[in-house]
Amino acid sequence: MTAITFVRGDITAQAVDAVVNAANSSLLGGGGVDGAIHRRGGPAILEDCRKLRASHYGKGLRTGQAVATTAGRLPARWVIHTVGPRHSAEEDRSELLASCYRESLRVADELGARTVAFPAVSAGIYGWPMDDAARIAVETVRATPTAVEEIRFVLFDEQAYTAFAARPV
Ligand code: ADP
Repeated sequence: MTAITFVRGDITAQAVDAVVNAANSSLLGGGGVDGAIHRRGGPAILEDCRKLRASHYGKGLRTGQAVATTAGRLPARWVIHTVGPRHSAEEDRSELLASCYRESLRVADELGARTVAFPAVSAGIYGWPMDDAARIAVETVRATPTAVEEIRFVLFDEQAYTAFAARPV
């Protein structure tokens, strides 16, 4: 039985097994939640990311995929980096956004994580409308079989919190 919960707050402060990062394909850091995770987690995360680039992801991590690193100094044990799609008015990229949640949970299961925190992937710099991002996120995690016991959505502002908390779980 997986509980789906919603909190308003900062994902870098969450005492969970794994926090999910809305990364970009370079894995080498960016703005938004990515910047916050690297700032608070310290250089060990970037070191792991560089190693992953060198060993497995020479061209970067593809959109919709996920990979884990240490969480450095964060309270969490792992960061699961996933690359959300940029929102497009011309093309429906919902399946790629859903894939971020499914792949992150698959990685969480591989790690043995029992509690996982997600931000609103793609709903910041990548421009996804918040209500639709929330619908895809919650519907996808509800439909994904996983041993994770708590999936915690951590929403940074009131608008994001309201959009997510309105979804049926
Ligand atoms: P993307 O590039 O995938 O859109 P962003 O990091 O720009 O990723 O934004 C994703 C969401 O994460 C946005 O709703 C943003 O407000 C939120 N966010 C930014 N910083 C944090 C944080 N420290 N904790 C939780 N959510 C955050």
